[in-house]
Amino acid sequence: MFDIQTMLLILVMVGFAQSATLFYVWMVNRSYKPAAYWAAGAMMCALGVLPIAFRGYLPLWISVVVANLAIVPGWMIRDYGIIRAAGRKLPLRAGIAVAAVTVFLLYWFSLVDQSYKTRSLIFGITIALFDGYAAWSCVRARGGRRRRATLAIIGVLLAADAGSALWRGVGAHVLDLHSIFEPTLTQTQFFLFHIFHLFTLTVLLVLMTAQMLQDDLDEASQRDFLTNAYNRRALKGLANREWAAMRRHDHDLTFLVLDIDHFKRFNDRHGHAVGDAALKAVSQAAETVLRTEDIWCRYGGEEFLAVLPQTTAANGRVIAERIREAMSDVRIAEGAVTVSVGVAQARPEDKSWQDTVHAADLALYRAKAQGRNCVVVSEAPL
Ligand code: GH3
Ligand code: MG
Ligand code: MG
Repeated sequence: MFDIQTMLLILVMVGFAQSATLFYVWMVNRSYKPAAYWAAGAMMCALGVLPIAFRGYLPLWISVVVANLAIVPGWMIRDYGIIRAAGRKLPLRAGIAVAAVTVFLLYWFSLVDQSYKTRSLIFGITIALFDGYAAWSCVRARGGRRRRATLAIIGVLLAADAGSALWRGVGAHVLDLHSIFEPTLTQTQFFLFHIFHLFTLTVLLVLMTAQMLQDDLDEASQRDFLTNAYNRRALKGLANREWAAMRRHDHDLTFLVLDIDHFKRFNDRHGHAVGDAALKAVSQAAETVLRTEDIWCRYGGEEFLAVLPQTTAANGRVIAERIREAMSDVRIAEGAVTVSVGVAQARPEDKSWQDTVHAADLALYRAKAQGRNCVVVSEAPL
């Protein structure tokens, strides 16, 4: 019913289309290396399948050995790109070893000891290894939620691909097949599934790249360009969430407002560019003191805000002191940088986190009035 040669030619065309599409994805997004691997791997596979479609017209060394010299490494490179996209590591040396052994065995069982069914089984096992490992990596992918969902679907697709290749290989053995063109169910399912697989995989990889760009954009819109601290837009959402959690679970919640001392003078003395470097260094030094669950935000020009969940004012003071002391490591253009910090813990009468920040702000003014380079805790009743 199915003509395998026709299916192979369709496979070549879909393969070239896949490669061209993925090359384009890489071209518009050059810094994204995995796309280059997908495209190059897909191109090698398509080039390799071409002589297979003409097996019978071409000598075996071309339609088996040369073809698989392109297909097997090509398959590995494409899967390697998917594994990288999933943020996982590929045991590259093991992969190259498997590819080399496979190509050698395919050469052996075509030119030395001709056996189609053995070649088919070897090919099936190798593809199942590559796709199986890539599928496993996709399921355990790192990255944004949307992207992980798409990678999980890609993982399922690759697992099905592994199964399909194995089915064909084992089938060739059990049914004692002698040619790729024998239209048994075990063979037709493999080529039919492959046409579907290449098409679907292309769409999913393009979708995943788009999601990655979206994730990058989302992340960038939350960050201050200079210091990479959260910006005020992000703070609003993050602080609202901490505030709600604090009210619900009756936790402690403390805010620090930090302001660089005499920064105008520093700028005037060293220039704005050096001032920028100092801002960055201050932000980094403070972040090393904070825990991962703390929120660090650039609140204004040279003013920062820290949200400390499950922290009392007393502990907030300790952390603020540590941040203040960390500034002794910040020496930009031989100029020392000091900071003043106001600390306030959320009080029952505070209607929103902005009220607590206001209290921390008043404490900061007192720190400035006391001579700067110090920490003052809001005196409001706790
Ligand atoms: P105080 O100790 O009272 O805080 O004095 P100050 O000079 O730090 O305070 P003031 O608010 O008068 O000045 C803040 C300065 O911060 C003014 C501005 O030049 C500088 N500044 C604000 N944003 C930036 C920035 O993005 N880069 C640089 N280089 N400087 C900035
Ligand atoms: Mg200042
Ligand atoms: Mg200021």
